[in-house]
Amino acid sequence: MYENEIESIAAKGSAKEIYYGLLQLTKDMMEQKGKIQGKKKVYYISAEFLIGKLLSNNLINLGVYDQVDSALKKHGKSMAEIEEIENEPSLGNGGLGRLAACFLDSIATLGLPGVGVGLNYHLGLFKQEFDKNLQKETPNPWITDKSWLRRTNVSYPVLMNGNTVQSVMYEIDVTGYDNQCNTLKLFDLDTVDESIVQENSIYFDKENIAKNLTLFLYPDDSDYQGQLLRIYQQYFMVSNAAQLIIDEALARGSNLYDLPDYAVIQINDTHPTMVIPEMIRLLTNRGIPMDHAIDIVSKMCAYTNHTILAEALEKWPLWFLDRVVPQLIPIIKMLDVKVREKYQDERVYIIDKDDRVHMAHIDIHYGFSVNGVAALHTKILEDSELKHFKDIYPNKFNNKTNGITFRRWLLHCNHELTDFITEKIGDGFKKDADELEKLAAVANNSADLEKLLAIKKEKKVQFKEYLEKKEGIKVDENSIFDVQVKRLHEYKRQQMNALYIIYKYMQIKAGNKPKTPITMIFGAKAAPAYTIAKDIIHMIRCLSDVICRDPEVSPYLTVVMLENYNVTYAERVIPAADVSEQISLASKEASGTSNMKFMLNGAVTLGTDDGANVEIHEFVGDDNIYIFGESSDTVIEHYAKADYSPEKYYDTDPEIAKLVDFIISKEMFAVGNKKSLIRLYMEIVTKDWFMALLDIKDYIKVKEQVFADYDQREEWAKKMLVNISKAGFFSSDRTIAQYNNDIWKLK
Ligand SMILES: *Cc1c(COP(=O)(O)O)cnc(C)c1O
Repeated sequence: MYENEIESIAAKGSAKEIYYGLLQLTKDMMEQKGKIQGKKKVYYISAEFLIGKLLSNNLINLGVYDQVDSALKKHGKSMAEIEEIENEPSLGNGGLGRLAACFLDSIATLGLPGVGVGLNYHLGLFKQEFDKNLQKETPNPWITDKSWLRRTNVSYPVLMNGNTVQSVMYEIDVTGYDNQCNTLKLFDLDTVDESIVQENSIYFDKENIAKNLTLFLYPDDSDYQGQLLRIYQQYFMVSNAAQLIIDEALARGSNLYDLPDYAVIQINDTHPTMVIPEMIRLLTNRGIPMDHAIDIVSKMCAYTNHTILAEALEKWPLWFLDRVVPQLIPIIKMLDVKVREKYQDERVYIIDKDDRVHMAHIDIHYGFSVNGVAALHTKILEDSELKHFKDIYPNKFNNKTNGITFRRWLLHCNHELTDFITEKIGDGFKKDADELEKLAAVANNSADLEKLLAIKKEKKVQFKEYLEKKEGIKVDENSIFDVQVKRLHEYKRQQMNALYIIYKYMQIKAGNKPKTPITMIFGAKAAPAYTIAKDIIHMIRCLSDVICRDPEVSPYLTVVMLENYNVTYAERVIPAADVSEQISLASKEASGTSNMKFMLNGAVTLGTDDGANVEIHEFVGDDNIYIFGESSDTVIEHYAKADYSPEKYYDTDPEIAKLVDFIISKEMFAVGNKKSLIRLYMEIVTKDWFMALLDIKDYIKVKEQVFADYDQREEWAKKMLVNISKAGFFSSDRTIAQYNNDIWKLK
C-alpha cells in the first residue's frame, strides 16, 4: 500500500515539494486509520505541548518510515534534508510540555481514547538569539499555510471581563505506534493580530486581549498586565475545554449526571485549575443543583503536581481573578467556605488571609487524585510540602514516575542504536520496552561493546556536522561530550557546572592537562524576566570565549552554548552525549525527563540523588551512575533551619573563592558585560539560594572520576550498555498504563 504514492513524492524535484507531498500523504494515512473510540475519554489539559517536528515520528508510527527513507535515498535525497522544511511548533517551555507530548503518543499507542487540550500560540514561547553573549528574545512563528494544523468548525463563546469572544478550535492528529489516532485540540481567537508585536522583539500591548490572547506562551508575567493576560489565557483554555467535554459527552449519550462515566480530566500542573469552577458553573447553568455539580466535577478531575518550588505554585490575588472572570468568584468563594466548614486549618484553605487563591488547593480538595512525577518527589509532597492535605486525604495521593516515548527518543533520533538493539534482541522492545533488559546478557562481549562505542562515535560526528552547519561552531568528536541541556534555572545549577569549567580551565593553565579533551555542551532558554538565569547564560558564553581565545587551554577544553535549544536540537545532541549532567539541588527537580532520554541513548549520568535520578540509580546500580552531593533530607533541613550561607564556604575555602572570583576577573570583563557578571557574582556569594557552593567540591571530585573512567573504553561501554538495557521502565507507555489503571480507568 502507498508504494506508488511514496515513489512519486520521492521523485519530486525540491525538498519543499517532497515535504508537502509527504505531509499530505501522512495526513491521508492518519485519516484512513480512524479514531480511537470509547465511551470514556481522558482530556489532558495543558498550557504546553512541546510536540517537536511531526513528520518522521508520524511516518514511524504509521510503519512507513523505512519505505519513505529508501525511496528518498534512491533519488539522492535524505530524510534529514526534507525535515529541515518543517518548523518546530514552539508550544512549550521544557519538561512539562514535552511530557504532555510524550503522553499523547503513548495514549494513542496504547489505544486509549484521549484528547489533548491547549492553546494555539502563534509565536510560540520565543526564539533565543545571542547578542554580545546576552540572550535576546524574538518571536518564533511556526504556523504555515499547509501544516499539521486543521481548522474545525467547533467554536465556543467565552465570557471574559464582561465581553464574550468566540473561539475557534484547531486540531492536530496524533497517531499511535501501530495504532489508530487521537487528537490534540488547540483553541484560538480569529482576532489575534501578530502585527501588534514590535519588530524583532516580544513586546506588545498587553491590554488588547482580543488581539494578543494567543500570541505567545506565558508572556512575561513580571508585571501586573502580564499576569492578567496569563489569567485570560488560562480561563480561555479551560472554558473551551469544559464546553468541549460537555458537548462530546452529550453526543455520546451522557445525561450530565453521569459525566464521570464519560470523561476524566487530567490537570497538568495548576495552569488549568479553573476548569473545576468553570465546569461547576456550566453544570449549574444547565439546571444541576450546586452540591450535585460539585460532586460530579470532583469525580472527574485529577491533578498532577510538577514542582515543590514555592514560587512556581500559582496563587492569584482574588481581585485579579475578579477582573477577568467575575463569574467564577462566587463559586471559588463557596468552594473555600465548604473547606473552612470542614477543616479548621488555614494551611488548607483555598483563599488565604491575604485574599490570594491557592490554585493547587482547589485541585486537591475538588479532585479525586493528586500525583507527583517521581518516587522522591511524591514522597516529599506527602511528607512535607502537602502533608496537611495527605493527612486529610490519605488515599488521593499517588506517584506516577514520568516517562518518555521511545518512538521519538530512540527509534527516530537514533536509528543506528535501534538497528543494533533489533539485531541483538529482535524488535519486541518497540512495543514492550521492558524487553530491553535482554540486551545486557546478549551484547556483553568485546565485539558488541566496540560496536556500541562506534555507534556513539557516529552520532557524535553527525552532531558535529550539524552544529558546524547550523552555528559555525567546530567540535572534536574524539573529545568527551559532556552535556547539560534543559531550561535555565538556578535550581538546575548550570552555574555549578560553570564553576567546574573555571576549575578545569585553571588546572589546564597550571599544566594539568586532561588525557582526553573535553567538550562541555549547554543548551538552555531563560525566562525573559529571570535576570539571574540570563546572567548565568552570559557567564557560560563568556567562559566559552575566554577559553576559545586561549591557545594553552583550547586544545583541551571547549565550551558550547547552543542557540535556541529545542526538541529538534535535543534529538541531535542527546544521542551524541557521553555524560548526562543532572545536577539539580537534591529535592528540587521533581523528575526530569532528559535524564531518561540520555540513559536510553547510552550516556552515563552524573547527578544528584534527585527526581527520577533516584530511580535510575536504583535500576543501574552504583557502578553505572555517578552520584554526588548532599541528600534531599539534608537540603530540606537546611531550608527548614535557614542555616545555609554561601559566605561560609566563600570565606573559609580559598579554593572555592578562587573559582567564584574568576566570574569578575579581568579575563571575563574583557569579553563580557561587567554589570551582569558582577550581579551574578554577588548573587552566588551572598545568596546562592540553590546551594551551588554546598556541593561544588564533591561535584568536582566525582566529575574528575567520570573523565578518568571514560578512558577505560570497554568498561565505559559496559556502563553504557547497562544504562540502555535498564531504560525500559522509563517508557511513557508504562507511565500511561499506570495513569489508566490507577486514575483514568478507561476501557
Ligand atoms: C526533554 C526536554 C526537556 C526537559 O529536560 P529536563 O532536563 O528534564 O529538564 C526540556 N526541553 C526539551 C526541548 C526537551 O526535549
